[in-house]
Amino acid sequence: MPTAPLRITVIGSGVIGLSAAHELAAAGHQVTVAYDQELAECVSSVAAAIWFPYHSENSPAADKLLADSLARFEQLSEHPETGIDLRRGLNVDHLPGADRSWTRIVAGTEEASREDLPNGAHAGVWATVPIITMSTYLGWLRGRVEELGADFAKGTVTDLAQLKGGADLVVLAAGLRGGELLGDDDTVYPIRGQVVRLANTKNLTQWLCDDNYPDGVSYIIPRREDIIVGGTDTANDWNREVEPQTSIDILERAATLVPELEGLEVLEHKVGLRPARETIRLEHVTGHPLPVIAAYGHGGAGVTLSWGTAQRVAELAAQLAGEPAS
Ligand SMILES: Cc1cc2nc3c(=O)[nH]c(=O)nc-3n(C[C@H](O)[C@H](O)[C@H](O)COP(=O)(O)OP(=O)(O)OC[C@H]3O[C@@H](n4cnc5c(N)ncnc54)[C@H](O)[C@@H]3O)c2cc1C
Repeated sequence: MPTAPLRITVIGSGVIGLSAAHELAAAGHQVTVAYDQELAECVSSVAAAIWFPYHSENSPAADKLLADSLARFEQLSEHPETGIDLRRGLNVDHLPGADRSWTRIVAGTEEASREDLPNGAHAGVWATVPIITMSTYLGWLRGRVEELGADFAKGTVTDLAQLKGGADLVVLAAGLRGGELLGDDDTVYPIRGQVVRLANTKNLTQWLCDDNYPDGVSYIIPRREDIIVGGTDTANDWNREVEPQTSIDILERAATLVPELEGLEVLEHKVGLRPARETIRLEHVTGHPLPVIAAYGHGGAGVTLSWGTAQRVAELAAQLAGEPAS
């Protein structure tokens, strides 16, 4: 138990809010998760989801979040009910100078040989990383948070003042809407992603991510029952509708890279808006009706950064719990 357990409202039940709620409840705080989208509706359910720092902050602080998250996902992968598998795959760069800093965090990466690479590729790296079947994982995670004693309250929070009296601290894990409730941050913007979900009836396991320059990004992420094939990454595009031609292009590019995809049944087309920000906002924020810990702006890597973020949120809460109330 913390020395001074707090009543904490976590705004958001995407992967960031649920992970933060887990760590806070596990530390003995009294947690309520406020949310207005069901799990299947939030962008977290669109994620591929591979552990990979795609479209996210590149800094030593972010590297720590990546490493902490990777360690937790590796532990959790020992429990099949979580939906997490460690799978080997290939990350391909079409241009020289790609950021390879992530290879310092992942054990056992290997440089790909020329024969492994698609036509026109510059280089590639083989790596074994967590692949997370989000439909299983988010449900499992919510169940764990409930088991730890947290409550869930559905409804939109329109003003932080409405939480005063019922909470000592707010954790703002509202993704793309993270800045809205603070009123001082309009730097969160969408990076639109469209994907196709195929039935994994051939039991493929090897993933492939290819920056595929200049024709657009391609990724093929085989999970247990399905394969997420992507994708697009258009900044400041708020369109949540599926673009049929985009799906055709995505599948064509992917089948060139992995011919085994031909003939697999299309289960679904999905669009999500990645909550991007130049830097992840992960800090104690003052000047509001009650203390706030901001935890948003994870871009294309919210799953990848989730446990590290949650651990940092819990550390910040512990610091606040140890301080006299202001
Ligand atoms: C196509 C695509 C592929 C991706 N692939 C990957 C991948 O392979 N690996 C990876 O790590 N990441 C991936 N991502 C990125 C990842 O999905 C996001 O970074 C992550 O889901 C963000 O999580 P979040 O919890 O911050 O936001 P969200 O999942 O959007 O959750 C936000 C939550 O806040 C709640 N909320 C917001 N405002 C309010 C309010 N005012 N009142 C009450 N509730 C509120 C919502 O109801 C929701 O519960 C991908 C994204 C896309 C679109």
